[in-house]
Amino acid sequence: MNTEFSHVLLNGSTVALTLRGERIAAIEPLSESAREVAMPLPVDPHVHLDKTFTARRCRSTKPGLFGAIEAMQEDIANWSEDDLRSRIGRALDEASENGMTALRSHVDWNEPQAPLAWHILGEMAQGWRGRLHVQRASLTSLDLLGDPDYGPCIADRVAKDGEVLGCFVYRNSRIDERLARVFALADRHSLRLDFHVDEGLEADANGFDRIVTLTARHGFRGRVLCGHACSLSTRPETEVARTIDAAAEAGVALTVLPTANLWLQDSSGDRTPRMRGLAPVHELRAAGVSVLFGSDNVADPFYPFGSYDSVEVLRMASLSAQLDPEGWLDSITAGPARSMGLEPPELAVGTPANFMLIEGRDWNEALRSPRARRQIVRMGRVGQEERRAA
Ligand SMILES: [Zn+2]
Repeated sequence: MNTEFSHVLLNGSTVALTLRGERIAAIEPLSESAREVAMPLPVDPHVHLDKTFTARRCRSTKPGLFGAIEAMQEDIANWSEDDLRSRIGRALDEASENGMTALRSHVDWNEPQAPLAWHILGEMAQGWRGRLHVQRASLTSLDLLGDPDYGPCIADRVAKDGEVLGCFVYRNSRIDERLARVFALADRHSLRLDFHVDEGLEADANGFDRIVTLTARHGFRGRVLCGHACSLSTRPETEVARTIDAAAEAGVALTVLPTANLWLQDSSGDRTPRMRGLAPVHELRAAGVSVLFGSDNVADPFYPFGSYDSVEVLRMASLSAQLDPEGWLDSITAGPARSMGLEPPELAVGTPANFMLIEGRDWNEALRSPRARRQIVRMGRVGQEERRAA
């Protein structure tokens, strides 16, 4: 049996989409204007499922990133198996309902052995296989991961589980020596790397440059993903332009996290923020860097809002970085899929029918209000309910 969706805006043209079984059987051009826009199901390259939904019991008393880190630290005593399963389960349900198809979640890891959240998330990811792909990335401070007594043990386990090695880099002492050890571990185990880097506005935060240099030296093109790089918004323009060119040359991708950065950067509690901490996304992409957008934190001390919804993240990115959303759909679909080592999603005749439709004649109308009607199609099956995004 065929299912037809007519008057759909796909890659800039109005078309009728015909599905047969699990695949797209035909795409026919139409001359009328569209009623809905179509995109492949989104992929989020950067979330924190271990921290999620703790906002109500765990509030930052100090502003900014380090206040949130402190508050989160105190909550870790509550991370029992039941607590983790319930919070992560709620997050994955929400992501699935919003049409997400894959997520990479960082998991805090500050001891030699894998933390409980790593195991629980691994088990839960198995349960979601086929519906939502969940990839894990360890998140350890650079001081610890770059320590020869700790790093090898963590990298061993990450490699055994076939996951991603990650760390938090921010104006560390002996930064080159420690980063060199992290790259050596990734080399030894053929691991992908993911860095939280330069999540602050100090112009001397230049870990991103050092990661770019090491990526080029090791020939890790396409294997290294950085997140944040907020200080690229405050450093001298000529220096930033050089760094951006080097990142494009080395093949380092960058995830920009507009929600958490807008919430945490230049935050003092009682003064209106002036500096917003967004990496220069237009310049990065123009130079050839793969720029991705991620949710980062959802309902935790780092960011009290959010809903595992990449379309909402794209709306926030469009507003904060003044983007034309239609031209940036790849930053929440094919771009993150490639960085996660997954097949980039595509909507063409013969491909699996995995896509989202949002009511609107064009992308501006579709993103005008979060209440625009959506339909999620997975393997040719239309979502049970036509939901209204909250
Ligand atoms: Zn993060």
